[in-house]
Amino acid sequence: MSNIPDIFGSMVFNDQVMKERLPKNTYKAMKKTIENSHSLDRGIADIVANAMKDWAIEKGATHFTHWFQPMTGITAEKHDSFISPTPDGNIIMEFSGKELIKGEPDASSFPSGGLRATFEARGYTAWDPTSYAFIKDGTLCIPTAFCSYSGEALDKKTPLLRSMETINLQAMRILQLFGNTEATRVNTTVGPEQEYFLINKDLVEQRKDLVYCGRTLFGAKPPKGQEMEDHYFGAIKPRVLAYMKELDEELWKLGILAKTKHNEVAPSQHELAPIFTTTNIATDHNQLTMEIMKKTAANHGLTCLLHEKPFAGINGSGKHNNWSLSTNTGLNLLEPGDSPEENAQFLLFLAAIIKGVDEYQDLLRVSVASAANDHRLGANEAPPAIVSIFLGEELTDILEAIESGNVYDPKAKTEMKIGVDVLPGFPKDATDRNRTSPFAFTGNKFEFRMLGSAISIAGANFVLNTVIAEELSQFADALEGANDFTKSLNALIKTTITDHKRIIFNGNNYAEEWLQEAEKRGLLNLKSTVDALPYFISDKNIKLFTKHKIFTEPEMHSRYEITMENYCKVINIEALTMLEMGKKEIIPAVCSYMKDLSDTAISKKALSADMNCELETSIVSKLSSLSESLYKKTKKLEEGLLDVRNLCSLQAQGEYYRDFIFLDMQELRAIADEIEVLVGEQYWPYPTYGQLLFSV
Ligand code: ADP
Ligand code: MG
Repeated sequence: MSNIPDIFGSMVFNDQVMKERLPKNTYKAMKKTIENSHSLDRGIADIVANAMKDWAIEKGATHFTHWFQPMTGITAEKHDSFISPTPDGNIIMEFSGKELIKGEPDASSFPSGGLRATFEARGYTAWDPTSYAFIKDGTLCIPTAFCSYSGEALDKKTPLLRSMETINLQAMRILQLFGNTEATRVNTTVGPEQEYFLINKDLVEQRKDLVYCGRTLFGAKPPKGQEMEDHYFGAIKPRVLAYMKELDEELWKLGILAKTKHNEVAPSQHELAPIFTTTNIATDHNQLTMEIMKKTAANHGLTCLLHEKPFAGINGSGKHNNWSLSTNTGLNLLEPGDSPEENAQFLLFLAAIIKGVDEYQDLLRVSVASAANDHRLGANEAPPAIVSIFLGEELTDILEAIESGNVYDPKAKTEMKIGVDVLPGFPKDATDRNRTSPFAFTGNKFEFRMLGSAISIAGANFVLNTVIAEELSQFADALEGANDFTKSLNALIKTTITDHKRIIFNGNNYAEEWLQEAEKRGLLNLKSTVDALPYFISDKNIKLFTKHKIFTEPEMHSRYEITMENYCKVINIEALTMLEMGKKEIIPAVCSYMKDLSDTAISKKALSADMNCELETSIVSKLSSLSESLYKKTKKLEEGLLDVRNLCSLQAQGEYYRDFIFLDMQELRAIADEIEVLVGEQYWPYPTYGQLLFSV
């Protein structure tokens, strides 16, 4: 393999390349734009575009594309070549500042959730200079935001960028209150840990459910699952290792800081974690990572499944969103400090997070809502659908001491003094691991663990950024005019803890008692996407997003619609796939097995009338009755799919899919799985769980 530092970022038009290739003034202007999100003028854009094109052509690129993240959850691109005809019938390679800054893809085939009805079908993409351009498959990709012609956001990047500006603004107000004169910007940082499955490609292609839905809709339990706990952190098999090696290299070329790789809990499940970076770039990189994971798998005869729950009965895949705030001077604002002042600031940020997570539990839940992720949340493999915060014992003790005005007893650990006016200097690191918490403090960052493996991390992060920005703005409002800063600060932290401590829970989130306890505390338990989504457009949340100019009200309604529609479509496709597999594959397989058994019995009887045919009779009669039930269930499911079309509201359709279609699907599956264990292996029409999970 080539030298890693040489290949790292080799396909990225990054700072180093810009420094080398741009005139000094242009470079300076670009830097300013990137660091402070200043806008760039056209003259400079022309120079940058030309330099980008020359660099890209040297790297073998022939095309460029605006690369964006529509509401489909994946990325979109439309390639244009650099060629431009000359009067003498030849061509030159061109790329202008205008083409760099703005593109006009037809927006009409992307989800817009009703916005399209009121606005033009045209949309435009706008260059996001804060995320570097890169080359992928011979095409120069320009990261862009995607809007309707009249400016409504149609993508995931626009609200994320807006939320980053908002939290910067509010966090800076707080830093100024603490006398920080050095920092000029606060960024949120994110490191998303990505889980995935690797399955033999030829087997995947034999299963319609995996092909159409990305998850298995049928499948009896294999004799072995994950009960031996022998996969987690186990030695990585050579074939998987070869895949991971190629993946790392491809990611490094794109400047993605792929760092950690290991086997996960379920058989054939793995994880990749990058080193954290600013939220915008982390989001772009995570989208690219998912795409390249899939693409690379094919080179190894594998399929990478990113679905949240590809297999029933074993763990699904999630994404842990490690989140923090840091200044452009390198200060992590969630790092407990050494001095009382630093700690006061840390505690204020912590208080904002506690208050924010409590007041906007609903939004955090909505931000991870999808039909696929519903399979995980609350299933004792991922956090419950109830949002709570894990702080660890020590930090919780400190907050309790602050609340009660008592002196914190560090249990002989160190010098802890807490009075009303003196905030503690406390020993860190005490954050013991709690794997069951949806939102855990892990020493100098929070780990939001409810995200699904396939979804864009943009949603969770613009919600987090906006919510915390709102709390910081309230705190700044209260403290900016205070006569006695320290006193007001202490009082503010104290009341915040008192009012919002119900959201703190350090225990086992999987325990039955927590469900009851959470209900007593009045915490939300939004079990499904359909339960959660209406909260997105509540007055409280519309107020939040419009106040901080993240969304307009129509934009919010459009997002509600897109997500609900998506939920319905996913379940509809799954139901249709089940019907197809049931009728075209399972029933014929059972019939042919029954026929062979019956033929055997007939032949046996022909040999001798008193031949014992108990085996044949018993299996055939069981299969016959099970397949009758299976057939009836397919009928019922078909009727349900017709009924749901008569419901006119989207919410009602969602509820119908959740309450009826989904249940019918589960019942259908249960029967099919019962049949599967009775039918001879060579009759079974598609690879079994055992084959899928244990053959790489
Ligand atoms: P674990 O699997 O134990 O949760 P990992 O080391 O796999 O932990 O992942 C931790 C993730 O947190 C990494 O992606 C890391 O880069 C990220 N991280 C570390 N510090 C920060 C920070 N200040 N802000 C955001 N993410 C961070
Ligand atoms: Mg983690």
